[in-house]
Order: sequence, then structure tokens, then C-alpha cells
Amino acid sequence: MCHAFFRDASFYRFLSRVDETIADEARSSGCPYCGGVLHSARYPRKPRGVREVLDEGYATRLSFCCATCRRRTTPPSVRFLGRKVHLGVIVVLVTALAHGLTPDRRARLIEQLDLWPQTIARWRRWWRESFAASRCWQALQGRFLPPLDRHRLPGALLGRLEGEALSQRLYRLLWLIAPVTTTLVLPLPVALPALPAFQDRAV
Ligand SMILES: [Zn+2]
Repeated sequence: MCHAFFRDASFYRFLSRVDETIADEARSSGCPYCGGVLHSARYPRKPRGVREVLDEGYATRLSFCCATCRRRTTPPSVRFLGRKVHLGVIVVLVTALAHGLTPDRRARLIEQLDLWPQTIARWRRWWRESFAASRCWQALQGRFLPPLDRHRLPGALLGRLEGEALSQRLYRLLWLIAPVTTTLVLPLPVALPALPAFQDRAV
């Protein structure tokens, strides 16, 4: 199943730069609770699945702690989907492809990424239940006509986004769902950083 960008280190570096842009914006706004100064207080992370193409930036998730009230501010992320140990890219790609995947390809995919079938089933449930109930989805769904079938998330959303290349549509989707990766309501920076062209051919 795999697509070239999926194994391309520069794709992941780009997503890191996007996360840094979002985090810079959050930091410059100050603490959302008291307006205090935010200090870096990253969470350690050990993402699974494509470790060989990830740089050391993926060992942490950007987060801040307020110098005054000590409360946490964790900005939205296009890399980490909440606390899942697999990156958002993997969760989206695998669950979008899981709709209509043949048993053979499914087995190969699970092997390539070292995924348990129960993990995929859990992710699909997450889309159907948690994501479909989120404020992020409530805000998003009104932007699509005809309405998206929430039972077919995230494939239905991926199929509706602009961009010929899968990497482009995947990136847009990660950007749109980034608010769900944090409990804080933080506005994303207005402009979506442009994704460079990546090889999308299947390998
Ligand atoms: Zn504060």
C-alpha cells in the first residue's frame, strides 16, 4: 500500500515545522488562563511505525507551562493525534484505507507498520465515536455539502479535500483536525503553510 512520501524524512520534517509555527503562535499569545509568560515544557513521546525516518524532534511534543499559574498549554499538532503512540499520518492513512482494503493488503499493511488488528479496530472506533462527537467535527461538518458520512471517517473527509496528491490531502486533513489533538481551544494560525511536492507514487 505504501506511498513514497510516507517513508520520506522531509515530509515529517515539514510537519515538525508546521507544529513549531502553531506553537510559536500559542506561545506569543501567552497563557490562555492568566496571560502569563509561557515556558517550554515538552512531553516525551515515542512514536511507533516509521521511527527510522523521524528526527529527534519527534521524541517530544511541543507544550508549555505558565510561569505564573503553572498551568499547561499544549498547542494543536499535525504530528501527534492526542495520546496515540502512532503518528496522526499513520492513523489517518491506515483507517482511511481500511475501508475496502482486501484481506491480503490489510495483512501486509499491518505487518509493515507492525500494527495489531485490535489497534486498527480501536482507531476506527475513535473516528466513529470520539471524533464524531468532538467540537472539532461539529465545526467542520457544516463546511461540506453534501454532508460527509461520519460512519466513513476519515476516508470520507480525505476524499473531499482539495489537492491531487494524497500527501497534500492528508496534510490538509491533519491541519483541519488539529484542534482535536488538544483540550484547549486555541485558534490555528490563519495561513496553512504550503506543503512542498512529494513523491506520491505507490511503492
Ligand atoms: Zn497562567
